[in-house]
Amino acid sequence: MSQTDTITLALSKGRIFKDTLPLLAHAGIVPIDDPETSRKLILDTNVPEIKLVIIRATDVPTYVEYGAADLGVAGKDVLMEHGAAGLYEPLDLKIANCRLMTAGLKGMKEPEGRLKVATKFVNSARRYFAEQGKQVEIIKLYGSMELAPIVGLADIIVDLVESGNTLKANGLVPLEHIADISSRLVVNKAAMKVKHERIQGFIDKIAEAVRLRDQ
Ligand code: ATP
Ligand code: MG
Repeated sequence: MSQTDTITLALSKGRIFKDTLPLLAHAGIVPIDDPETSRKLILDTNVPEIKLVIIRATDVPTYVEYGAADLGVAGKDVLMEHGAAGLYEPLDLKIANCRLMTAGLKGMKEPEGRLKVATKFVNSARRYFAEQGKQVEIIKLYGSMELAPIVGLADIIVDLVESGNTLKANGLVPLEHIADISSRLVVNKAAMKVKHERIQGFIDKIAEAVRLRDQ
């Protein structure tokens, strides 16, 4: 947990930072530096006791679980992969909305043997196919999953789909819907106890910002 008089919020650059900014602004919090141009990894805000740490999206649950950040914003995909047992997840921010899906080449036929599945979401994929009672071979990739079926590395992929344009551009079609994804506010369990008033106040403000934005 960070010092008891400050609260630290972990965010990733890009869409999550961009979509979280207006919610923070509603809570009266404005970062002093722009993470897209600054090299700083800890950003001060106009509120001296609130700091932002800028990290990789997939690292957010780890920072919050260990208390290196009190709070964080993470995609449900990242939380499903990480396993969210060590975290509270009090609020759906309904930003960075997309779907976790399977996708394959248009007109593909099911293979004779085990289905080969390329993905960076290995835990979510394994769980999904186990629930379906399907034996699959999972191939871990770190990006550009769409390439795998084209070059014959895998039969299908498990990936995030927003508009479907990236799939389409590569001759792929979405197949099965695994989960609806949006970003969640997550909280370190110890911080929630020790800094309860401050953190609950922050959560309430952000919840109100989400309600006002969506009404
Ligand atoms: P990195 O690019 O550093 O490997 P990343 O791809 O996880 O990390 P982002 O692309 O910023 O980082 O994605 C952050 C989160 O935004 C994801 O965890 C997911 O919840 C959501 N997201 C990813 N792709 C999309 C998309 N196409 N549309 C909407 N939300 C998305
Ligand atoms: Mg990305």
